[in-house]
Amino acid sequence: MAKKDIDWSNIGFGYIKTDKRYVSNYKNGAWDEGALIEDDKVTISECACVLQYAQTVFEGLKAYTTEDGHVVCFRPDLNASRLKDSAARLEMPTIPEDKFIDAVVKTVEANIDYVPPYGSGATLYIRPYMFGSDAVIGVKPANEYQFRVFCTPVGPYFKGGAKPITIRVSDFDRAAPHGTGHIKAGLNYAMSLHAIVDAHNQGYDENMYLDAATRTKVEETGGANFIFVTKDNKVVTPKSSSILPSITRRSLIYVAEHYLGLEVEEREVYFDEVKNFAECGLCGTAAVISPVGKIVDHGKEICFPSGMEEMGPITKKLYDTLTGIQMGHIEAPEGWIKVIK
Ligand SMILES: *Cc1c(COP(=O)(O)O)cnc(C)c1O
Repeated sequence: MAKKDIDWSNIGFGYIKTDKRYVSNYKNGAWDEGALIEDDKVTISECACVLQYAQTVFEGLKAYTTEDGHVVCFRPDLNASRLKDSAARLEMPTIPEDKFIDAVVKTVEANIDYVPPYGSGATLYIRPYMFGSDAVIGVKPANEYQFRVFCTPVGPYFKGGAKPITIRVSDFDRAAPHGTGHIKAGLNYAMSLHAIVDAHNQGYDENMYLDAATRTKVEETGGANFIFVTKDNKVVTPKSSSILPSITRRSLIYVAEHYLGLEVEEREVYFDEVKNFAECGLCGTAAVISPVGKIVDHGKEICFPSGMEEMGPITKKLYDTLTGIQMGHIEAPEGWIKVIK
């Protein structure tokens, strides 16, 4: 077996079909053993709960090659527990953590030739997901479910370095108080599609969503959490029951406190105070951190002192330390790195 003939540094962030995927079915109250299959097509009832009522939840994580040549993934146990929380909120069954991790490992092993080499900047993106697969026409949860894991190689998120982006304060809301903003469900994305297309049409890279009840507090973007840095180098991240608990953000906070000795505040962040921050970044698995250079609120601009050319200095330290831990140049906290090969 040899690495696939792919131009790793130029593949972009799109779907590339790989050789094998993992499938397990839930029926009569139990999961079957699960297996790797070759067929990339899903066959379900036209009336499946996922198709009619969007009963589906997902996860996203990466496998990559470390400096010493191992293939690893980052904190998959947290993806397993988050999927469990997401599923429970949509009345779906639990995937046990060991089944989830086993499925991820098997899928990566079966597609090992698609794991991009160290130094290419590319990674293997892994997508575990679950959906209600049997027919329901009255509104109720499905009786049968399918859990699948596929993977696809993705290129470096930033070609030629991370340039700061410009975002706008959105007039659309992402998540209601007591709603589903805190779970990783397709439904949260379906309703963000119009807002992101509109943002792009207006020349913005992303939407900053405020809390739906008062429109005074910062929540997150469609797919990433915020971190801010104060002028005296404190790291501040919004706390809210309607934002998705990003694993990247939780890891960065740990890195800030335990590796960089920075003070961290996880608290409500009013939009009014954003203009006083020195740095701003978006965090998620895809990019680790995307620096934000400018936020536009209905014509009023907030320009961070770090500018539009480079990441702010603290953001850069956080980014370098976390990616260093992931790639194996910096010692990881116990349990963060799952070695696959
Ligand atoms: C997945 C996701 C994130 C990022 O979470 P990570 O675990 O860091 O990848 C942030 N916000 C939303 C809405 C998400 O769906």
